[in-house]
Amino acid sequence: MEGCCGMPTEIRFIADVMLGKLATWLRLLGCDVEYFPQITDDDLVERASRSGRVILTRDTELIRRRKVRDNQFFVRGDGYRDQLRQVAERFSIEPWGRILTRCLRCNETLEAIDRSAVRDRVPPYVFETQPNFWTCNRCGRVYWRGTHHDKSLAEIREIFRPRDDLRPEG
Ligand SMILES: [Zn+2]
Repeated sequence: MEGCCGMPTEIRFIADVMLGKLATWLRLLGCDVEYFPQITDDDLVERASRSGRVILTRDTELIRRRKVRDNQFFVRGDGYRDQLRQVAERFSIEPWGRILTRCLRCNETLEAIDRSAVRDRVPPYVFETQPNFWTCNRCGRVYWRGTHHDKSLAEIREIFRPRDDLRPEG
């Protein structure tokens, strides 16, 4: 795990069933976020305490549990943009620090993979035009900086645009 970008210790999260979209966006920023769409509250709490993860939750019942009280963050926003901003602020997550370093599907850290190894695993056009590839060792998905990334990055830029950014041009 590379620690080059000013994130002191990596905070690990587990998101409750209502926060799937937030989990994916946090993974896009490179955060370690477990998410299980079907998990019960009991299992969620158990898993969090066993693995030392902070529970991200929208569930007011859940945060009253004794085992959970010191180990949760209640997410207030309804939309993932507000939620993402809120979590990043609370845990001092630098949005660009580790962006695109984690598999969005299974939360594994991505590893650089030799271009020659992906020839048969990506569309020919992508292979011809992309210099760098990464892969997830769990699901085998191959990542590259493509159009999809550009859209995500534009969205991140918008979400984290300084709110007081009203300086006149020039
Ligand atoms: Zn994966």
